[in-house]
Amino acid sequence: MTTESTPRLGGPNVQRDGASADFFDATRWNILLIKACRSCSHLVPATAASCSECCSTDLVARQARGSGRLVSWAVVHVAPHPALANDVPFVTGIVELLEGPWLRARIMCEPSAVLQVGTPLEVSFVHRADSESMPVFNIVT
Ligand SMILES: [Zn+2]
Repeated sequence: MTTESTPRLGGPNVQRDGASADFFDATRWNILLIKACRSCSHLVPATAASCSECCSTDLVARQARGSGRLVSWAVVHVAPHPALANDVPFVTGIVELLEGPWLRARIMCEPSAVLQVGTPLEVSFVHRADSESMPVFNIVT
């Protein structure tokens, strides 16, 4: 079961480019993509341009389950961008997906939440009219 939260995700508008178009096409439909290497089947983050095992650039998109575990996190108290001024303090973290790839994302919890390495997380998506849809992670209880 996932804790319900009302994702609040400010920040600068995220704009797609050729490399991120497939990823954001998927997030619009609440789908989280990763990539699989066609040469060795290793799974890598959607942002990877090549396989971290064999260096092949022959990668294909795959749908991730959206579950993972917290690897590391930080509480951001000073907005690194003016568009984040209303969001601070917030938690940002590194998530290890069940499939293996790591990604950075907002962790949707109170800054005072007790977090641990390995805390189970589940993806949800924040849809904004002025930006691409972004994945965020909620603590699974
Ligand atoms: Zn490979």
